[in-house]
Amino acid sequence: MAALVIAEHDNRALKGATLNTIAAATQCSPEVDVLVAGSGVDAVAQVASQIAGVRKVIQIDVPYLVDQLAEPLAAQILSIAKNYTHLLAPATANGKNVMPRVAAKLDVAQFSDITKVVSQDTFERPIYAGNAIATVQSNDPIKVITVRTTGFDPVTSTGGSAVIEKLTAQADSGKSTFVGRELNQSDRPELTSARIIVSGGRGLGSSEKYQELIAPLADKLGAALGASRAAVDAGYVPNDYQVGQTGKIVAPDLYIAVGISGAIQHLAGMKDSKVIVAINKDPDAPIFSVADYGLVADLFTAVPELTKAIS
Ligand code: FAD
Repeated sequence: MAALVIAEHDNRALKGATLNTIAAATQCSPEVDVLVAGSGVDAVAQVASQIAGVRKVIQIDVPYLVDQLAEPLAAQILSIAKNYTHLLAPATANGKNVMPRVAAKLDVAQFSDITKVVSQDTFERPIYAGNAIATVQSNDPIKVITVRTTGFDPVTSTGGSAVIEKLTAQADSGKSTFVGRELNQSDRPELTSARIIVSGGRGLGSSEKYQELIAPLADKLGAALGASRAAVDAGYVPNDYQVGQTGKIVAPDLYIAVGISGAIQHLAGMKDSKVIVAINKDPDAPIFSVADYGLVADLFTAVPELTKAIS
């Protein structure tokens, strides 16, 4: 009875989402191993071995895993899956890419996006854009799980001393080839792990106004930038800024929503934030129903004043 967490990393650094996923795994089983599969991942495995509560780190290091494509990564997971009762990955683009393949190959159901471990075979997950919580149970011998990271506080990244076991990689099936990746470079914190997020909506009216008003406020606060889907669809910002049901799920300490109405699909991505501030000229905007602090004002005057007031 042990759980295996698939580490989220970029071959150089371990991503914070791994720590939340380990927290969920420790509630599934007292014995938690971490799989670090990639290329040149000695440093990542080393960092993973220091995480509190980890029993063993399994390192599979081979050049063709550098991009962690679903097909070869799933093959590595499947090669050791029989040793585990639970296989967990964060519900990120990576986790959501590989785990359904693992579940299908094992012929078991997948538990997607869990927010609570009720018992070793029963989990909670939000449905209907977070308006209802489903309790799901399975008798499958191996539970394949993706974890909503905002549902679990991260475990401590230090204090552990897990052994690192190096395994030989499965042969590459050659079924998929990495073609390219277009990444937005930013010095700002990553949206899903930021402590503070400033998000802009359609109320801003243009990409120029987003940059003129939202970016300086985020700079002052050391915040990540977010947006509603309407702002993304209108081309104000790239689509990886989108917060919500079909965007990123976030739960920062502080979420500032500027010119965002608060449609249920947006709320589904941010309503678990610890403190929510809304700036909107419409006093009946639904965003105020989840806001801890609401300012009914014209954003074009309120936001520059707020930015100026922050030293
Ligand atoms: P609007 O609803 O147009 O609101 C703009 C707000 O700005 C208004 O409240 C207005 O009062 C305010 N405003 C205007 N001018 C000013 C001013 N000068 N000063 C102050 N306030 C001002 N949306 C998401 O955000 N994320 C998702 O992941 C997402 N997924 C979706 C999935 C599905 C299947 C569907 C159907 C929809 C989804 N949506 C999502 C879209 C969602 O329904 C809303 O259309 C969208 O969130 C609206 O964005 P908005 O609040 O920026 O725009």
